[in-house]
This record gives sequence, C-alpha cells and structure tokens, in this order.
Amino acid sequence: MLSDPTTLTLAKLSELLKKRQISSEDLVNTFLEKIESQNPNINAYITVDKAGAIKAAKDADARLDAKQGEALTGIPIGVKDLFCTKGLLTTCASKILHNFIPPYESTVTSRLKAAGAVVLGKTNMDEFAMGSSNETSHFGVVKNPWDHSRIPGGSSGGSAAAVSASLCSATIGTDTGGSIRQPAALTGITGFKPTYGRVSRFGMIAFASSLDQAGPMTKTAQDSALMLQTMAGHDAKDATSINAPVPDYMASLNDGLKGRKIGIPAEYFASGLSQDVATVIEEAKKQFTDLGAELVPVSLPTTKHAIPTYYILAPAEASSNLARYDGVRFGYRCEDPQDIKDLYFRTRAEGFGSEVKRRIMLGTYVLSSGYYDAYYLKAQKVRRLIADDFKAAFAKVDLLLAPTTPDTAFKLGAKTDDPVQMYLSDIFTINVNLAGLPAISIPCGFDKTNLPIGLQLIGRPLDESGILSAAHAYQQATDWHTRSPIL
Ligand code: GLN
Repeated sequence: MLSDPTTLTLAKLSELLKKRQISSEDLVNTFLEKIESQNPNINAYITVDKAGAIKAAKDADARLDAKQGEALTGIPIGVKDLFCTKGLLTTCASKILHNFIPPYESTVTSRLKAAGAVVLGKTNMDEFAMGSSNETSHFGVVKNPWDHSRIPGGSSGGSAAAVSASLCSATIGTDTGGSIRQPAALTGITGFKPTYGRVSRFGMIAFASSLDQAGPMTKTAQDSALMLQTMAGHDAKDATSINAPVPDYMASLNDGLKGRKIGIPAEYFASGLSQDVATVIEEAKKQFTDLGAELVPVSLPTTKHAIPTYYILAPAEASSNLARYDGVRFGYRCEDPQDIKDLYFRTRAEGFGSEVKRRIMLGTYVLSSGYYDAYYLKAQKVRRLIADDFKAAFAKVDLLLAPTTPDTAFKLGAKTDDPVQMYLSDIFTINVNLAGLPAISIPCGFDKTNLPIGLQLIGRPLDESGILSAAHAYQQATDWHTRSPIL
C-alpha cells in the first residue's frame, strides 16, 4: 500500500488498481479515514456511505482480479447530493428533502456504478443548486480547503472541495449557470460542463431543466475524459438527451494545440476583472501561443445581458420544477396541518430556505400573465441572441479562452446580504449555459494570497474532445493542477 494514494490522479490510481499494486478496498478505507478526520473541518460531504463503499470496493476488487476492470473500476468518487441514488439519502441540501431516500437511481450514477466506480458519499451543495458560494445549504457552509475563512464556490462547492482536499478521487457536479466551473476555479481543480444534452439528466433533481447539465470534477483534464467517457451518451429516459455517438476522448487527448485558433472575447477582459486574475490569464495566454495555438480577438457583445437573462429564465423554470414539493408524497411535512392548504403553505414556508424562496417568487412573477411577454418571452429572445454571438465567434475560431471568474474565492458571509453581488460571480460562466455549450475550467495560477485562479475554455457544441485535448496540452506543460492545499 502506498503512503498516501489519495493525492494521485484518477488515471494513476486506475493503473495501480489494474496492475493490482493497490486494492480498491484499501484505497476506499484510506479515503474514508481521511474523510473522517478532515470532513468536520471542510463539510464537503452531507452523507458518507461507509458500508456501501466497502461493499462496492470488494466487488470492484473481484472484477479487477478477474481482469474485467474498466478505467473507473475501484475508483472512489463523490456524488453531488442532487443525483438520486437508490436507497441512499438524497437531500439536494434542502430541509424539504432532508429525509428523501430515492427509490430509483440517476442515469449518470448508474453508469458510473456499472463501470465499477465506488461511491463514497453525497457531497454538499447550495440548496437546490441555487448559489455561488455553498452558503445556502441546509447542512451548513462548505469551507475552501485553501483558506477555511473563504467560500469554495457553488453550487457544487462540496464536490469541488472534496476533490481539492483529496477526500475522493473525482466527483460529479452539475452546472446550470457555472456550478461546476466556478467552484472548480476557486478550489484549484478541473471542472467540465459538457454540451447541454451530452449527459442524461434523468434522476437529477431539476433546478432549471433547459440549462442543467452534469459533468466531472477532477484533478486533471485526463481524469475528466475518463469520467465523461462513462457518463456521456444518449438516454431514452431524458427527452433532451442528444442521440449522437460518444467519441473516444482518450484517443484524441494528445491532439495538442498546434494550429488551433483560440478566440479571446474582449468582453471577458473588461472592467470588473481583478488585477491578479488578469495577470495570471495573460501569462496563460502566452503559454497557449507557445504551445502552437493562434490567439484571435473576438467579440461577444451580448455578454452583458447574460446575468439578467439567466435570472429570468432559471427562476421561471425553478418555480415550476419546485412546485412538486408540497409535503404530500415525500420529503418534509409541517406538523399538525389544519387542512390541505395549511399543509402546502407551511410545508413550503418551513421547508425551503430564503434563496430558494426568492427564486420561486422571481420565477412566478416573470411567468404571471401580464408580465410573461415583458420578461420571460423577452429573455428567451435575448437567449437566442447570446447563442448567435457564440455561433458567429465559432465561425472564426475553434475554442474561446477566458477567465472562469472575475476574482478568487471571497470570504464566507461577504455576499450573503447582497444577492446581486452574489449573482455577478457567474458573469463569465452563465452565457455558456444559455448557449448550451461545453466548457472547462482548469487551474492556471494563484493570486497574491495563494488562492487558485481558473481559466475557461469554451467549445463548439459537442466538441468535448477539442476542449479536453487543449486543456490536457496546457496541463502537460504546466503544473498548476498538481498543487494541493495543505490541510
Ligand atoms: N450561481 C448560479 C445560481 O445561483 C448558478 C448555479 C448553478 O449552476 N447551479 O443560479
């Protein structure tokens, strides 16, 4: 057994497992011990499934012994607590689902489990994935492993912190407006949001169905390729899932950057970008040129409309999706309801946190008759313009390069009283969701106080391979992704 295998990449662990130089059971036990000692400080996990993980590890070892292992067989992973896991508590970090044990499994987790991945537990998040700091969770805030006085980003903050602190090998998150990429950037890991429809949404607790997309959160782009290979693909249970073949992401991983045209969108480098982030991204741009890419200035003029558009459309969809939580069939129910109306009203008043209520009210308002045309319909039209902007840029370039976030991780509590400031954290990620595009965040440096900075690569629809190979080329030439916080 190696001294500390938890800090190794998924690819390396997979190799050791296949060669039988390490057993999945030992590996899982090492992660479980680390979770036991470190999770109380960071709060990355809501639920740890010790017995389930050990059983799955034993099954994986038997499969590996029989030489029937795949890349993920025996790999310990964390799962964001909005993927339904059959028989295992799934809360979406909300009081209203505090006791919900799903009777079925999400497609993504069932694919990962079938490949032999071992689920260590369910990771913390913002309630119903609404947030950018992991401070809206009913189960408490998550701390950034790099500085415990700071947020890890959100909404997949627990997933990001778990990978950053090596409390699992990889996790899955979801990204509706930046929830994979923003926390990845703020915790120094790699986070990949695939094209909308590339990965099935079946069994994911819905926030905004036209935007939600699952993706891997890992230490490297190569690890993301390995995870996505299993996660991606058509699913008849999700009507928006894309029916297109899944390419071999590992086969093209070493394609390199030579001759690739990378657009630099002017609007992502305007005011609001912190000096430290700007300096580090400038440095990274040089690295991309050194690796053979050609940088091309481009413009995405509708960028400034992304936040208001998102905060009409996402709450509108949320207000409808969250109507199902009424205390009747599952989840939290208020005590001693007087009648059915009282049951609905008090269950929802007591069960939802304040950010979720704000979104439901916003969404209900923009959908109400008299306001529908002025807000919802208008926002849908702007969404089209945003997508058209990207389309025009991709007629000239293969990828876009930009910062993932305007700044590094802020202090816990710094923005909780100012929702608009909080919403602005996603200024560089939200437009990508509105356009349905794939994008990755990879570590590219640190600010003056040693907090990680993320770089975003955005691609054409379904060009996950192009993004992964570009990110991999950069990670072969740099070592930012190998840095980890001292716990
Ligand atoms: N921070 C954004 C929001 O609060 C995006 C969240 C997400 O991607 N799930 O809605």
